[in-house]
Amino acid sequence: MQNDTTAATGTPQKIAFLGLGGMGLPMAARLLDAGHPLTVWNRTAAKADPLVAAGAVRATSPAEAVAGADVVITMLADPAAALAVADAMLPALRPGTHWIDTSTIGPDTTRALAARLPDGVTLIDAPVMGSVDRAATGELLILAGGDTAPVAAVLGRLGTVTACGAPGDGAALKLVLINAVVGGVALVAEALTLAGSLGLPRELALRTLAAGPLAGAVARATATGSHFPVALAAKDVALATALAELPVLEAVHTALTTDPSLAGEDLAAIAR
Ligand code: NAP
Repeated sequence: MQNDTTAATGTPQKIAFLGLGGMGLPMAARLLDAGHPLTVWNRTAAKADPLVAAGAVRATSPAEAVAGADVVITMLADPAAALAVADAMLPALRPGTHWIDTSTIGPDTTRALAARLPDGVTLIDAPVMGSVDRAATGELLILAGGDTAPVAAVLGRLGTVTACGAPGDGAALKLVLINAVVGGVALVAEALTLAGSLGLPRELALRTLAAGPLAGAVARATATGSHFPVALAAKDVALATALAELPVLEAVHTALTTDPSLAGEDLAAIAR
């Protein structure tokens, strides 16, 4: 097992990881594999089983998870989840703890959480680009607001950090980038619908779209290793349209929520 140490102390930071969904589970596994003492908590406890079998400690509450941690990482679905978990864990955070929130919750919720920190606790917003496949290989793009230096070794195990500025700026840039991706995939989906209406083969349309400026969106619309549920994409679009006048993304939100059977499917499902 490889040892991942801090420059400051030479010893692995004790990590509490809360939120073991599609993204959180592989991220936590990478930290455990790097030699960090790891305590885990998830609302649905059974999702922690593989980590516990590999040596992580199971906590029965968020407060129990974070007690004694040097670094707390949250990877939760949405603002409501982040606020609920914060309510439960904030009183148990000890001074000196670094809390890294990797959930996509937008800048307003991030700043509301920052305003509630106990003395001596820091919050780094570090939402990520890249799906479950890149979470497993440590190749996420991490959009960080705040000072990442004290947790550089931990973040480096998960991906590559882009410094965005002050707390909340990582959350803000995440909304910009993910809405561009979701909008691009929605546009590819409509282009394919148009091609079908005109009697053109899907493969011909995809191949020629991929040779133009929508190449990245075509790659995402045809990706097979990703699992970014349509419901979470709709959440991210709603976070954006609440902050600015975005009529195209309003229409994208309607497109994402019209068929509830797609809610749990990867985003690529809207282009099938
Ligand atoms: P997920 O598989 O649905 O996992 C969501 C996690 O949040 C689970 O641990 C879930 O617990 C927990 N949760 C939901 N509501 C909760 C509540 N009220 N209280 C406590 N815990 C709650 O989602 P994911 O794909 O891992 O995504 C997590 C975050 O990363 C989201 O903000 C998403 O937008 C973002 N993200 C996702 C991807 C991707 O490709 N999937 C990529 C980049 C960023 P249970 O297990 O009990 O339901």
